[in-house]
This record gives sequence, C-alpha cells and structure tokens, in this order.
Amino acid sequence: MAELKRRNRLYHLLSHCNQAIVHCQYERELLQTVCDHAVTHGGFKMAWIGWVDDTNQVITPFVAAGSGTENLESIQISLNPDDPFGQGPASEVVNHDRPYWCQDYAADPRTAPWREHYPGRHWGSAAVLPLHRHEQVIGVLILYADERWEFDHDAQALLIELAATLDFALKYLEDQKILRRAAAVFAHTREGILITDAQHNIVATNAAFTQITGYTEEEVLGKNPRFLKSGIHDAAFNRKKWQAVHEIGYWRGEIWNRRKTGELYPQWQTLSSVRDSNGKLIYYVAVFSDLSGIRNAEQKLEYLAHHDPLTGLPNRLLLELRTDHALQRTHKKKSVALLFIDLDRFKHINDSFGHAVGDALLLNVAARLKEHLRSDDTLARLNGDEFAVLIERIKHSRFAANLATTLISAFAEPFIIQEHILHIGVSIGISLSPDDGNNFATLLRNADSAMHQAKTQGRNNYQFYTSALTAAALQRVALENDLRQALKLKQLTVLYQPQLDLHSRQVIGAEALVRWHHPSKGPIPPDQFIPLAEETGFILALGEWVLHTACRQMHQWQQDGLPITRMSVNIAGQQLHRDRGNLMALVPRVLAATRLPPTALDLEITESFIMQQAEHSIATLDQLRTLGVSLSIDDFGTGHSSLAYLKRLPIDTLKIDKSFICNIPSDSNDVAITRAVIALANSLQLKVVAEGIETEQQHQFLLDQGCHFGQGYWYSRPLDAVAFFNYIKKLT
Ligand code: C2E
Ligand code: MG
Ligand code: MG
Repeated sequence: MAELKRRNRLYHLLSHCNQAIVHCQYERELLQTVCDHAVTHGGFKMAWIGWVDDTNQVITPFVAAGSGTENLESIQISLNPDDPFGQGPASEVVNHDRPYWCQDYAADPRTAPWREHYPGRHWGSAAVLPLHRHEQVIGVLILYADERWEFDHDAQALLIELAATLDFALKYLEDQKILRRAAAVFAHTREGILITDAQHNIVATNAAFTQITGYTEEEVLGKNPRFLKSGIHDAAFNRKKWQAVHEIGYWRGEIWNRRKTGELYPQWQTLSSVRDSNGKLIYYVAVFSDLSGIRNAEQKLEYLAHHDPLTGLPNRLLLELRTDHALQRTHKKKSVALLFIDLDRFKHINDSFGHAVGDALLLNVAARLKEHLRSDDTLARLNGDEFAVLIERIKHSRFAANLATTLISAFAEPFIIQEHILHIGVSIGISLSPDDGNNFATLLRNADSAMHQAKTQGRNNYQFYTSALTAAALQRVALENDLRQALKLKQLTVLYQPQLDLHSRQVIGAEALVRWHHPSKGPIPPDQFIPLAEETGFILALGEWVLHTACRQMHQWQQDGLPITRMSVNIAGQQLHRDRGNLMALVPRVLAATRLPPTALDLEITESFIMQQAEHSIATLDQLRTLGVSLSIDDFGTGHSSLAYLKRLPIDTLKIDKSFICNIPSDSNDVAITRAVIALANSLQLKVVAEGIETEQQHQFLLDQGCHFGQGYWYSRPLDAVAFFNYIKKLT
C-alpha cells in the first residue's frame, strides 16, 4: 500500500511538473514550482535546486521549498574533493554525472560533515539528481524524505524521468529566451528586416520593413524580393553583391530600392546568408536602414549652399562649379559661354515701387529667362538684378548671340506685378572660352565688362567680350572727358533736317540734330555719345545748349520770313526727370531768352522712355503742355506702347521709327505695322510723321496710307543752318 501511495505521489508530481513546464515562462519560476510540487504533491520534506558555480567550485542554492530551507542560506557544498565539504552526495553527482541515492541519510558517511554542522537536519533518505544543459551538469535537484529507503527502483526511474524532463525544459526555456530576445529585436528595431529561404522566397519581414517599404508582411510572404528593385544597379553590381554573400557570408553597402509608392530611396543594407549546423544554406537575411532622411537633410544643406533663396536659382558658387565642370568636359572645337545679364534700371523700380514689387519682378524675370533656355543651360542669380547663363559645348559664338537676342526680345512684353505694368530691358555681356578665359573667374569678369559695354551701347542689347574691349573701356573714359570739353571747345553743332508736308512737298519744320566733331576721331554719331552723355549727366548741359541753339535759330528764321512753323528738339529721358533736368524751368527760360513763341517748339521724347515710367511721364508731359509747346513721341513702334497709356498721353504727334519705313514696301510686316500706326494716329487724332524716307516709293506709300508728314534723305539730309536756309529758298 505504502509503495503504491508513494508511486502515485510521484506520478502526481511528474504530471504537475509537466504542466509547470508548459505554463512557466521563466527558469526560476519553473524550478521553484517544481520544488513546491515536490513538497505538496510528491510528499517530500524538502526540495531544492542548486547551481554549479564553476568559478568558485561550489554549488549554490537557487530555489527551495519545504521545511529546513533556512539552513540553505549558509550551506557549504564544494566541488573540490580535498575540501571537507567536497565529498558529499551533491559533489559526487556533479563530478560523476549520475544520480545519488542516499537511502539512509543518518548512516551515510558522505553526509557526515553536514550532519555535524547543521544539527537541525534529520532526514530519512535523500535523492540527488543532476540537471543538464548542453550535456553539461549545471545543477542538482535534491529531495529529502522522512523515511529511509524511500527510493526504490520505480521511484528512481520516475525521478530520473523528472530530471530529464527538467533538462528539456531548461533547454527549451533558454531557446525561448533567445527567441524572445530575437523576436523583440526583430519587432522593435528601426531597421527593416527581410528573411528569405534559400530559394529567395520571403518568409518573414518586420514592422520597420513595412514602415520603410510600404508593403505589409502578408503582401510579400512567399514572393521573391525583386519587386523592391530600383533598376538603378546594373548586373555587375548585383553579381558582386551575391558573390560576397556566398563567399564570405555577407555583403554590406548602399543600395537603392523602390517603395510601394514607386519612390526610389537609398538604404544601407547588410545581406547575410544563414546556414544550419551542417553548413546547408537555409536563409538569407537582409537588414537595412532608410537613408533618405539623412540624404534629404544633406541635400537640403547642399541646396541652401548652392542656391539663391529668393528665386531658387543656382547661386554664384554653383555656377562656378558647373562652369569649371563644363570647362573640363569641353573639347577642342567647342566652347563654354557665359552670359552676364543685368536688368536695365531695376534700381529705379525698386526705389519707386518698393522691395516687394522688386522681389516679385525678379521672380518673374527668372521665370521668363528660364522659358527660353534649354534644360542643360544653367541660369544663376549672381546678386541684385544680375543673372548669368552658362551654355556648355557651343560650336559657334553666333549661338550665344542668338540666345542673347532671344532673351532680350523676351523682355519686350511688360511684366505685370500687382497693379503695375513694368517695362524692363536687359543688357547682356558674353564671354567665350577659351579666348576670353579658361576659368570661371576670368570668364565672369569679362562677361561683366562686356555687359557694361552693352549698357553704354544704349541698353537692351548684348556685347561680346574681346580683348579690345579693355582698350575700348579706357578709350571710353577718355571720350567722356573729351565730351565734357566739347561744348567749351565749340566741337558741337546742330544740324536741321527738314520736315515736309508729303502732299505739297513743302517744308513745314525742322528737327534739330546734334553733331560732335571730335578733333582726332572726326564726326561721332549722336547714337554713340548721347548715351555716354546720359550716363555722365552731361546730357543736361548738352540738352540745354541744343534747345537754346535751335530756338534761337528758329526765331532767326521766323525773322527772316521762312515759312516754317515748328522746330523739333530731341529731349533725353534724363532731362525729363522733374528734379534733375528741371525742364519745366528750362523751356520757358529758353523761349523767353530766344523770344520764340511756345507754339513754334516741338519736343520729341522717345517712346521707350515714356513707357518705362508711364504714370510719371503722363504727369510730366501734362505740365509741359501747359507751357504751350507741342509734344511728339519719337521712334514710335520700338518702345512697346500700351494703348491704354497712349490714349492718356497729352501728345500731338507720333513719329514712326525709320526702322519700319526703310523696309517699305518689301517687308510685309513693316508695311502692316506702318499702316496700323497711321490708322492708330488718325483715330487718336494725332499728327503722324514718318522718319527715314529714302525713296519716292516710300513717299507715295505713306501718302496713300494717309500719313501727312515726313522727313528723310529722299528730301534732305540734316543740314547746317546756312544750307537749310538755302534749301528752303530754292524750294519756294
Ligand atoms: P531721331 O530723333 O530718331 O533722329 C532721326 C535720325 O534719323 C537722325 O539720326 C537722322 O539723321 C536720321 N535720318 C533722318 N533721315 C534719314 C533717312 O532717310 N535715312 C536714315 N538712315 N536715317 C535718317 P542722327 O542725327 O544720327 O541722330 C540719331 C539719334 O540721336 C536721334 O534719333 C536722337 O534720338 C538722338 N539725338 C540727336 N540729336 C539729339 C539731341 O540734341 N538731343 C538728344 N537728346 N538726342 C539727340
Ligand atoms: Mg528725333
Ligand atoms: Mg526717331
């Protein structure tokens, strides 16, 4: 009966321990439960488990249950056979890796040292069983019973089975621990993980994989990861990568992949092969981190360093890099061109309308320039109103010239910023490698200097840099000085070109045109020195002198009885500036001094100047009209008039620019424009004067179209006063 009971208890114990193994997640929890069960279900007085401490050569208690556990805290069990506590049952079990059955505890000589030291320990019998991990003894399970001879053959077999089950559980728990750790890493790491089998079918991915690629695990399981490929890397790259994986077990590097959204992104990736204990390849594991965040930040910094914040265009630094790069790549027969673009009178717009309008204008200018460039040209903003274009690999300088022409004509249309209609021109300087320089600094400096040359040529045009340009710049300084002297030295004269009634061919007036006879250079045309005079401010003195001379002459001719009614005098833009030219004071003073009635004076103002600052011009011209003089718009057709303004301008006459007349009747466009201008003038009830008439055919055409007045070489070149007088006398 007793034996049956005992066996039943042991079965009970075994069954409870098995359940514990299923339920317990942690080693201590399991082993404690086993000891508890040994006491409560197994009927043992006490049970404990100790670990082998290899370093100190001792066994230390880990968990215990039952009565007498208090002694365990101080218990000494050595693994050293020379130690008096080194020859007990537990040491015997560890050293020989087999159970020890102590059937009569009190009589067993091996238990003597403990019986002496721990008088409270009165056991009938004890069993000591080894516990293993990786086939090594790592600990002991010790069970104490009241009775002697407790462990018969069946009991021993059952307890050995219990110990073996614990061995298995210990291994299982450790595996679980590693797996749990791995699973935690797998689930929580910010690096994407993708695992495939040896046939490259995906068997697992983690949350970061989904976050980075956009694919859920369900979507990709069983698939070949090739759907992630960016297509950027060539076959050689992939071959090398897999070669490394197969030969050294892993490959590490940067690789571009494609997200579910289609977006390409860079990732830092480690690709490893995993083999089983027999060396057979079982998995490939890819661990990767998304570099696009880092790249974006890098790119942002890089962008800021290389771009103009207002327009987003490349800045000088980036232009330099690109130019240097282009210079390196350019072959013998081709060159690199730099166009230096400066807005004409931008400062004026900024000053009059404020910086917000100025900024908006710059943005629009950038956009408009860009429209006319190819994608591989670089448009940069250097600063303020200065832009530059880099053209790579051009075969001939005329390509740069064509582009410059296109860009200049792109500015014919005004910019509409808020409620303002802004007319703005550009001056462009061009330098070409290798003649004008073979590095960025030189090319830019020379393009800049060519741009200044363009400005002196009257703006809204382009100039190439040539080495002669530097000399020209020096000459220009000299010319400036000469011009200042010209008045005093009486090198300036005024010529008069007859203006005729086309129908009667009678002279009705004259246009005063200034001439400069330079002592060494000979005659210099006004188209060259007027802009120079404007830049230096000398135009004010010059304009006053011409006005005075012409008015005095007109008065003289009236005295002489010449049948002409008006004298036209050209007025430069600068003279119109209220605060500078002070035309409102000058004109009455000159008229009074020369005793010329205001009705005999006509002032010619160029269309481009008026339209550049239309509102301001209307006010100035209104004031001038109050003086009784008449007003003409000169060079009409070249200055992008707005009809809205034209209607409001207090003018009497439109002068059709000679560039339209000279191609009549061969150029059908010019014919059409001329017709339209005449019709426009008639409908606005303005007089219209055609300038530059050189043939009878042009004369007849203009007459037919309803143009009443004209001037040109066909009737007479500009003449000096004496010749003009004689010319009229001869006609009448
Ligand atoms: P503009 O006011 O349009 O003057 C007409 C120009 O056309 C003059 O050139 C005249 O000589 C030229 N011309 C007249 N008939 C013909 C023709 O049949 N064929 C051709 N090809 N040309 C003809 P010019 O005298 O060289 O003057 C050039 C420009 O210089 C003038 O253009 C005017 O804008 C400016 N200018 C001349 N004198 C003065 C002045 O005293 N003050 C100011 N501010 N500008 C002046
Ligand atoms: Mg004129
Ligand atoms: Mg003209």
